[in-house]
Amino acid sequence: MPLPATIDDRLLGRLTDRVRSSGGATYKLLEVYTGEVITALPQSTAADVEAAYADAREAQQGWASQPLEQRLAVMKRFHKLLLKNHATVVDLMQAETGKARRMSFEEVCDVAMTTSHYLRTASRVLTDTKRGGVVPFVSTATEVRAPKGVVGLISPWNFPFATSLSDAMPALIAGNGVVLKPDNRSTLNVAFGVSLLEEAGLPAGLVQIVCGEGPDVGPAIVDGADYVMFTGSTATGRVIGERAGANLIGCTLELGGKNPLVVMPDADLDETVPGALFGSFLNAGQACMHIERIYVHALVAEEFTRRFVIAAERIALGASYDWEPEMGALISAEHLERVSDHVEDARSQGAEVLTGGRARPDLGPTFYEPTVLRGVTPAMRLAREETFGPVTAIFTYETEDEVVALANDTDYGLNASIWSRDLEAAERLGRRIRAGNIGVNDSLACAYASKSTPSGGIKNSGVGSRHGDSGLLKYTDPINVAVLKKQVLTPPADVDYAKYVKQTVLSLKAMRRLNLR
Ligand code: NAD
Repeated sequence: MPLPATIDDRLLGRLTDRVRSSGGATYKLLEVYTGEVITALPQSTAADVEAAYADAREAQQGWASQPLEQRLAVMKRFHKLLLKNHATVVDLMQAETGKARRMSFEEVCDVAMTTSHYLRTASRVLTDTKRGGVVPFVSTATEVRAPKGVVGLISPWNFPFATSLSDAMPALIAGNGVVLKPDNRSTLNVAFGVSLLEEAGLPAGLVQIVCGEGPDVGPAIVDGADYVMFTGSTATGRVIGERAGANLIGCTLELGGKNPLVVMPDADLDETVPGALFGSFLNAGQACMHIERIYVHALVAEEFTRRFVIAAERIALGASYDWEPEMGALISAEHLERVSDHVEDARSQGAEVLTGGRARPDLGPTFYEPTVLRGVTPAMRLAREETFGPVTAIFTYETEDEVVALANDTDYGLNASIWSRDLEAAERLGRRIRAGNIGVNDSLACAYASKSTPSGGIKNSGVGSRHGDSGLLKYTDPINVAVLKKQVLTPPADVDYAKYVKQTVLSLKAMRRLNLR
């Protein structure tokens, strides 16, 4: 299959040139639909990463000293350029990851929405805030938000464009530089996004791209950073978090999930079935918030399962650079093997495969059918481990307490979805599930797309969050600027100290009474 016309040698040259690389090593970047080589992606050495930080740090000084309005003007232009060039972003993303075009486009929307959100809110969030000083009338204290410096941003292949550009956006708006390490498999679309930022007016050098296998370049990325933004697996998150801790820098870790969806007995199945289908199979199940466990009330289990399986069988799979396929490929042959191993492990221990459960080499080297299982028991790998593929298991329950316990029986806590006609009852049940995102009558999109609200994982699904005011503030240090108009805090040299203590106790009492301090 020919690559889309937008991906020509000139573009590939421009994008690979963006990677800081001096050692000559390359990575064979494959077109997932065919397994053919797209280009040789330069790899960075630890010295390249250090040089990237040095240059980003220099560019950051000028960027941070610009008024916020000027930085926001760049992002306004970027928003326009992104929407104008969305087809190229989507072409690159599809070629590199094999995801369906529809899902690739959603990533463009995510970056546009995140940019728009911070364009609207950054001035309010980053403005100096007068807090009032320790002594009323004679002192002031102001909270000033200073950029951290240079942020190390490490992103995965499954939502490469969104997890790179959307997470870089608030860091840049706050005045930081960024050293960005996308996954080797999904670098070109990210590099194209960075080229759009520069076309919009971002100073050259402020965002640096480094590439390499995680364990090779990861330590240098964390060591050079003033803050780390990481999205990826829980195992890697631990490694990054430990190193960031040793370096005494902050980090956000957005990690894996094993997300439950609960169908209450009064759920509207006309909405629940397509909602659960999207939640389970979006991006071929390679989404951190996607649904891997469906708990259906016994009263509606048979009807739900019948409809869900029929709908899963109707999902259009395909390798094509147009809008027709609803589901694309898995990222790699290794990942296909992992997904297939989970299903075979369950099948061999007695789980029933209601549909799917097989690869589709006729469509491309890494296609796997939407798969629905029943009869999964705790001993099976896919009961507890993140499968990260188009595989979901259906369970039945009878009481709310039972389903809350089942939904919470996981080390992860990223997303949970509850479906019912009774919104209050669904929300009540949802709040009993320990997850960072709770969706009522929605699988994940509503929670993730609500950019005003922080979104992150709890338990083994992460530390910190993105979006909302805190998603911008985390890239800043609070600086406390305190001004005393008249020295009243230290007693004069000749004061009787006992008298001073008495007066201080009285004024503390008065301030409490007046609710002043
Ligand atoms: P991964 O942890 O293997 O890789 C993620 C990134 O980290 C890649 O760029 C990789 O090269 C890099 N990396 C790997 N080892 C490293 C190391 N030692 N030091 C520094 N960097 C290192 O994850 P993956 O399998 O590629 O991605 C899928 C995982 O990401 C899933 O678990 C998924 O749930 C999770 N994810 C989470 C979110 C979220 O927002 N919570 C979003 C997307 C994906």
